[in-house]
Amino acid sequence: MATELRQQVRMVSSIDEMRKISKSFHGATLGFVPTMGYLHDGHMSLVKQSLKLCDHTIVSIFVNPRQFGPNEDLDVYPHDLEGDIEKLEMAGVDVVFHPNSKTIYPDGFKTHVQVDEITQRLCGNSRPRFFKGVATVVLKLFNIIRPQHVFFGEKDWQQLAVVEALVRDLNLDISVHRVPLVREPDGLAMSSRNRNLSPEERTKALSLSKSLQNAKDQIRQGITSANQLRESMKKIISAESGTQIDYISICDPTSLQEKEVVKGRTLIALAVKIGPARLIDNCIVED
Ligand code: AMP
Repeated sequence: MATELRQQVRMVSSIDEMRKISKSFHGATLGFVPTMGYLHDGHMSLVKQSLKLCDHTIVSIFVNPRQFGPNEDLDVYPHDLEGDIEKLEMAGVDVVFHPNSKTIYPDGFKTHVQVDEITQRLCGNSRPRFFKGVATVVLKLFNIIRPQHVFFGEKDWQQLAVVEALVRDLNLDISVHRVPLVREPDGLAMSSRNRNLSPEERTKALSLSKSLQNAKDQIRQGITSANQLRESMKKIISAESGTQIDYISICDPTSLQEKEVVKGRTLIALAVKIGPARLIDNCIVED
């Protein structure tokens, strides 16, 4: 008979208890992976990196209401706490921090973190509250958990840039680790939001990764005009009915400033609304 070897993950919802546990890890390296739950292999690649590098790993599951706009998908954001706990337990995570909204934002909450410039570009244009909400919750979670190492996915490239700026500008004693984007076998970037796509919408969603692949191929053939690349990407995505392009950005991977020509290391990032989901994807190219 197979022996049950997995250790039980500790579920914590109070800030005081979370602080106590973190303090009890004193002297060991502590890794932290913030998530909004409905975990997939993309999240788990962050978790695996933390488990590999750190003595203890804490994962938070918190759907942060302050990073959603009024007409966004907060109410339909997918969740499966039991499934998530099972995955994290199997992986060997020590603690899951799962606070509720009132714990994180008690009545009278009035302090926010604002990262300038990079938050105004790409997703910042159509989601004006998003990065303020992200930076605020991330700093709160860092202060509660006190990790030395934190793990973020390149799937959310701009979010990573914001977290790096926050850590640098506010002198946080934390190493930010970048984890590569994980895709489904057919190319679709893994995302909790894929759950909300119908089978037809999911097929249409493949146009995002196809358009990025097309841009890569064109660059390999010598095309470097950002306008020309953007137009071919638009064609591929718009060929699928019901897709609504929010932006296609061809920009510097650090400053996120738009480029007119692909020269040197370049980020191609896009956001597209398909049915109920707004999906993002990106890749790095070199000329
Ligand atoms: P979320 O639960 O969507 O807020 O994501 C939590 C963390 O997982 C973030 O750092 C994301 O960038 C990362 N993540 C989400 N999807 C992927 C993916 N497909 N590949 C790599 N990292 C991901």
